[in-house]
Amino acid sequence: MCGGERFEPDNAAYCPSGDFVTRDAHLMRSGYARGDAWVYLVISHEWGHAVQNRLRRGLVSPAAELRADCLAGAALYGSSDDGTLRFEDGDEQELVDAFEVIGDRAPWTRPGDHGSAVQRLRTFSRGGEKGARACFT
Ligand SMILES: [Zn+2]
Repeated sequence: MCGGERFEPDNAAYCPSGDFVTRDAHLMRSGYARGDAWVYLVISHEWGHAVQNRLRRGLVSPAAELRADCLAGAALYGSSDDGTLRFEDGDEQELVDAFEVIGDRAPWTRPGDHGSAVQRLRTFSRGGEKGARACFT
């Protein structure tokens, strides 16, 4: 539940009123079957929405979903750079594959909701290579 509303099944979300990230267990299990990087990607995307919620409104653009992907890349690669997180062999390919699945043709997204798989991966990579500041230029 978030602000009196029940979350959609088979999705993950950031709840602004409660300031927490949550996820559906089935979504995590089915994604994990493709590789553990899935879990990191989904949670870091929602983490990106939590970051957006802390920003002044003027910094939050209509392209909020792609920006959350950019921040997800900044969070994961930043964590790798400072040693908090270690990428295993195959994780980066799993991330590429995950974007193929969660691009706008996924059943829980409508066209235009999140961007195409190519747009999402490109934006995620920009955050990963250049850091969070690059997500706001
Ligand atoms: Zn989102």
